[in-house]
Amino acid sequence: MRAMVLETVGAPLVPKELAVPSVQPDEVLLRVEACGVCRTDLHVVDGELPNPRTPIIPGHEIVGTVVAAGDNVQTPMPGMRVGVPWLGGTCGVCAYCRSGHENLCDHPEFTGYTRPGGFASHVVARAAYCILLHDDVDAVATAPLLCAGLIGWRSLQRAGNARRLGLYGFGAAAHIVAQVAILQGREVFAFTRPGDTRAQSFALSLGATWAGDSDVPPPGQLDAAIIFAPVGALVPAALKAVRKGGRVVCGGIHMSDIPAFPYRDLWEEREIMSVANLTREDARAFFAAKATQGVKTTTRPYPLERANEALADLREGRLSGAAVLVP
Ligand SMILES: [Zn+2]
Ligand SMILES: [Zn+2]
Repeated sequence: MRAMVLETVGAPLVPKELAVPSVQPDEVLLRVEACGVCRTDLHVVDGELPNPRTPIIPGHEIVGTVVAAGDNVQTPMPGMRVGVPWLGGTCGVCAYCRSGHENLCDHPEFTGYTRPGGFASHVVARAAYCILLHDDVDAVATAPLLCAGLIGWRSLQRAGNARRLGLYGFGAAAHIVAQVAILQGREVFAFTRPGDTRAQSFALSLGATWAGDSDVPPPGQLDAAIIFAPVGALVPAALKAVRKGGRVVCGGIHMSDIPAFPYRDLWEEREIMSVANLTREDARAFFAAKATQGVKTTTRPYPLERANEALADLREGRLSGAAVLVP
């Protein structure tokens, strides 16, 4: 099989020809049809997450077809199309797993981080953590839903029933969440890097009520804000933008340090919270929700071998929507 491998943190991925892995009894082997490039992949490659286990194949927005199944697997069976998200496995016995919070499992496995991921022609996944997809889905269009969509969905749930919703960082996740939120009847206020008029036009084209620079206050107070950009300074900025009792949800896995800010910006029952990983229930709810049926992802496909170019384009903010690798 072909794979793009992270051998050294901070260095470019290396194209490799590897043996196709064999499946354990509870695993399936997939032929990868498409794999999205997520900001978390950038954090893995750039060494911003703890304990990277190199060599590793990144990629956790996988759409593929099952080509082999382990002896204990009932579903999915060969020929079925599935998605493989960031949550690659959980222990099933810790207090978090037993209380419906498997996203916080004490002994989790993560696709493309602690398990081999989808920047490859083939990948092995734990069957119970695969998401069943319809036979007719478009692989490239669906791939970004597997993380940007799911984490965005979980972040939106955490934002509560906010009618006026701010989105900080208008990349892959925000472009999906914005569509879901608007279909649910909310108003979206999109904040981008100062001067990024292309991202602001993109947000407006998707139906945002307002789009502007992240260092400019929105027209009127927000009920909640979700921060997808990995920029800690946006936390106090977003707190200032939300009303009394408003929430600021941090949707990313990594962020630069949050600068000190006056207590009065938090006071009046404003809240700051983070979102970590996802649960399989999030995936079921996301793909079943009416509002998500109308989402149209904007993607830029790259051949698998050009993964480094896709990562660079994401790092430099040159993308509208999501980069997707196609083996
Ligand atoms: Zn657990
Ligand atoms: Zn991700």
